[in-house]
Amino acid sequence: MYTKTAIITGISGQDGSFLAELLLKKNYRVVGVHRNKLSNTFLGLNYLGISNLVILEECDLLDITQIISIFKKFNPEEVYNLSAQSSVSISFQQPIGTFQYNTLSVLNLLEGIRLTNSAIKFYQASSSEMYGSVNKLPITENSIMHPVSPYAVSKAASHWLCVNYRESYGMFICCGILFNHESYIRSNNFFIKKVIQESIQISKNKQHSLKVGNIDIKRDFGYAPKYVEAMYLMLQHNTPENFLICSGVSISLREIINYIFEKLSIPNTKLIEDKNLYRPTDIIDTFGNPQKAKSMLGWEYNFKFFEVIDILLEEELTNS
Ligand code: NAP
Repeated sequence: MYTKTAIITGISGQDGSFLAELLLKKNYRVVGVHRNKLSNTFLGLNYLGISNLVILEECDLLDITQIISIFKKFNPEEVYNLSAQSSVSISFQQPIGTFQYNTLSVLNLLEGIRLTNSAIKFYQASSSEMYGSVNKLPITENSIMHPVSPYAVSKAASHWLCVNYRESYGMFICCGILFNHESYIRSNNFFIKKVIQESIQISKNKQHSLKVGNIDIKRDFGYAPKYVEAMYLMLQHNTPENFLICSGVSISLREIINYIFEKLSIPNTKLIEDKNLYRPTDIIDTFGNPQKAKSMLGWEYNFKFFEVIDILLEEELTNS
């Protein structure tokens, strides 16, 4: 017998898969929403061995009628919205699609909840990218936003829609403002996964070199399975709020490459830096302060990022 029903959108993604695993352990009935069964491989769910335990429902989040019928069918207590065009790079190539999807899908979900059952608790996947170029680090929940990519602007817009619905209608809406978090099941187009995969290919003489853009930028990276725990904790907290989820320190992409190259005995000559791969605008350095989540939610995070890299490298080597 299940304890609660949760709907997770973006179920085929990294966070959707780890969150489903966590909620199943807590005896939830988990309904996973995705865009298209035929074009979806559900790699993450399969890798975690839980694809048969999640109820999969096809739904276009741009169509509110489909959202409402899923809410009526499953009557969830909690909705976790993780669906988005989540790549900063792709958002520069597809700004309109990214902005439309990442904002309208959220507005439809909020309206769907307001019209069917405003007691449903809602989690929105906000992003540290919303803060963009800040002049004071570490970032806190109250830092001023200056997003520097179409993705970041779309996430800021949907974030403020959530805040507005919380304030206007008293709905239980939490925005988790997550910094980069990684795992073996991250898609191949994200930096850490790409560097690890390609470096392994280089070490096996199956690829000549690693081509990268600006690697002197610094980011606050963490481990995805631990970050999804914070999503769950937010919706169990007695008041709906925004929480920053991060490790608290930043590390340059160059340091990460050097570490991986050293581990795999790859010479630095295999690294090719290409200015054509630079983004039109970028954040030089960013890291956050996770104190609010730690003290109010009891969220625990003690990983050093090189420990995370060791885990990812080992998993990739085992599976490659
Ligand atoms: P992900 O692996 O890219 O998964 C996102 C899912 O959204 C996809 O699997 C896809 O699922 C769905 N989607 C809907 N429209 C899409 C589109 N136009 N293009 C691509 N996918 C689309 O993302 P994630 O890493 O799990 O992140 C979950 C959420 O947290 C996202 O909203 C992301 O923006 C946000 N976030 C992530 C990070 C991070 O470091 N991972 C940091 C901050 C915020 P279906 O095909 O099944 O519909």
